[in-house]
Amino acid sequence: MSTVDWQGKHVTVAGLGVSGIPAARALHERGAIVTVVNDGDDERARAQAAELEALGITVRLGDGATLPPSTELVVTAPGWQPDKPLFLAAAEAGVDIWGDVELAWRLRGTNGRPAAPWLAVTGTNGKTTTVRMLASILEAAGLRTAAVGNIGVSLLDAVLGEQEYDVLAVELSSYQLHWAPSLRAHSAAVLNLAPDHLDWHGSMEAYAADKGRVYEGNTVACVYNAADPATEELVREADVEEGCRAIGFTLGTPGPSQLGVVDGILVDRAFVANRQKQAQELAEVSDVDPPAPHNIANALAAAALARAFGVEPAAVRDGLRAFRPDAHRIEHVADIGEVAYVDDSKATNTHATEASLAAYDSIVWIAGGLAKGATFDELVTGAAKRLRGVVLMGADRALIREALTRHAPEVPVVDLDRTDTGAMAEAVEHAARLARPGDTVLLAPACASMDMFTNYNKRGEAFADAVRAHAEKSA
Ligand code: ADP
Repeated sequence: MSTVDWQGKHVTVAGLGVSGIPAARALHERGAIVTVVNDGDDERARAQAAELEALGITVRLGDGATLPPSTELVVTAPGWQPDKPLFLAAAEAGVDIWGDVELAWRLRGTNGRPAAPWLAVTGTNGKTTTVRMLASILEAAGLRTAAVGNIGVSLLDAVLGEQEYDVLAVELSSYQLHWAPSLRAHSAAVLNLAPDHLDWHGSMEAYAADKGRVYEGNTVACVYNAADPATEELVREADVEEGCRAIGFTLGTPGPSQLGVVDGILVDRAFVANRQKQAQELAEVSDVDPPAPHNIANALAAAALARAFGVEPAAVRDGLRAFRPDAHRIEHVADIGEVAYVDDSKATNTHATEASLAAYDSIVWIAGGLAKGATFDELVTGAAKRLRGVVLMGADRALIREALTRHAPEVPVVDLDRTDTGAMAEAVEHAARLARPGDTVLLAPACASMDMFTNYNKRGEAFADAVRAHAEKSA
């Protein structure tokens, strides 16, 4: 079904929403007979359904489980769990299931404009940051590009919209990769692999296998993290085009076919004429914002993909200099009395939190929320020596407190027995009291936010508000 004749084809779109609605419209415009099925049947879903029905698309609300009998293809929202009855029925009937990424991949180039190659990024943490760094570098090189995918701009809009691109910087989640069997990127990076979303994938092996799909059919480079052997293993397992190279990134001195760091300089020993002898300077560590170790790794991965696409070293430097991180990702909020206050509300799992705790020497750590099945022993053991104190809040805070009791009994812990939004102000007051000059008060919750806040943005904003209120009080 690569160049599909959509005329009269019965397609079931699973899920209204950011990917389902544009998918249904695009397929309908191409002559497919589209039925949208959706579990929810609330006011918003009804309004969306009415808009689609006005176009002649059938929408079935309140039942996302039953496969319409004439279905020839299912197009699903990426988050839908693979063991849903709808998918089991499709598999039984021999019906293909595509995600939003697969659909965009298949439809690219069908609107009269050439299909731009994709530079793809996945991994447990750092995807958004890396993709945005990559887009900034590509822009600095004068290329027409956009950061798209699991990042706000839908891939379908990017490939079918008015704008013409030379190359796309694409963020892909493990869910999206699961449903994208024929995607073939120009080059791709897996930044790191740590347990996450295992309830969805079923096992770590299945999660890794879905991430590894990003390398399938790469033509120029498979970029892996030299500090994370699981990512290199995925490159070895991938079936790539003849001549495609494995390119590593490391925070240490790079070997041949790697990018790394030497004396505070990001260097390339992969895309140079003689990689045994030559190293090309790309940028300085201080060009990366923030220059925390994990973020240097993100910058190296972005640089590797850009270099694989033929971007000159000066554009890598200019692009990194122009890049500013998104909010709530190691965001410096204020310095009050020689204590830095940093908002990493986006650190919603232990792997991300490990990276941000590693970036500071002496920390008052604010943590807690919904643990999503995580354990905290390893995280606490690794950080114990750098913890001045800890303030805990949220539904699953006891799990972190118990890990602290086991592995860092000498660290003072404030356990806030509240899950209301106002708890953040109290948390910041306690943290400020525990902090000494030179310390960092770091919100890196290692947990999801939904027990107390609408999302991680709101949690980060509550922290920043509390820090500002504290600054006023201390002035
Ligand atoms: P994603 O899109 O994968 O969720 P983000 O770039 O939004 O990644 O960063 C999410 C969080 O992960 C950040 O708050 C930061 O703490 C952490 N992080 C970013 N890059 C890395 C990395 N390379 N390794 C580990 N943690 C990281």
